[in-house]
Amino acid sequence: MTKKSDISLTLLPDPILKRVLADVPDDWFGGEEIKELAEEMHQAMLDANGIGLAANQVGRDLRFFVIDKNLAEENKIPNAFANPEITESSKDTDEMEEGCLSIPGFTGLIRRPKKIKFKGFDIEGNKIKIKARGMLAKVLQHETDHLNGVTIKDYSEN
Ligand code: ZN
Repeated sequence: MTKKSDISLTLLPDPILKRVLADVPDDWFGGEEIKELAEEMHQAMLDANGIGLAANQVGRDLRFFVIDKNLAEENKIPNAFANPEITESSKDTDEMEEGCLSIPGFTGLIRRPKKIKFKGFDIEGNKIKIKARGMLAKVLQHETDHLNGVTIKDYSEN
């Protein structure tokens, strides 16, 4: 038996999912609090069979998200990011079926840029720059959206 996370996920229409979140403070980097939060979020994501999870999905007002550890390893990138920013998006777009742990039972074909440039910080405070495509690009965009109060529901209703 794997240990289940005792964190509960926030679901729409919880207002924290519609809010632009606050930056992770500088003095958090490299500390216990951010490491524990990352581990708790990874566990909650695993328990829910997700591949990404943003801090507001566990009720925290922080620009912070985690991604699937295997996806991170395959791409040789960290599996948690603070204060991220998408700095470039390709004009080319395509659709992928996306779901969201905060919107149980809902999936939608979401059109997004195919390739992005992304920057942020790992939990130690190292600056990370990534060029992403494919599944990784979609996950990074989905999670960065969460930090800006945007969910896949907002796309489908446009
Ligand atoms: Zn989501």
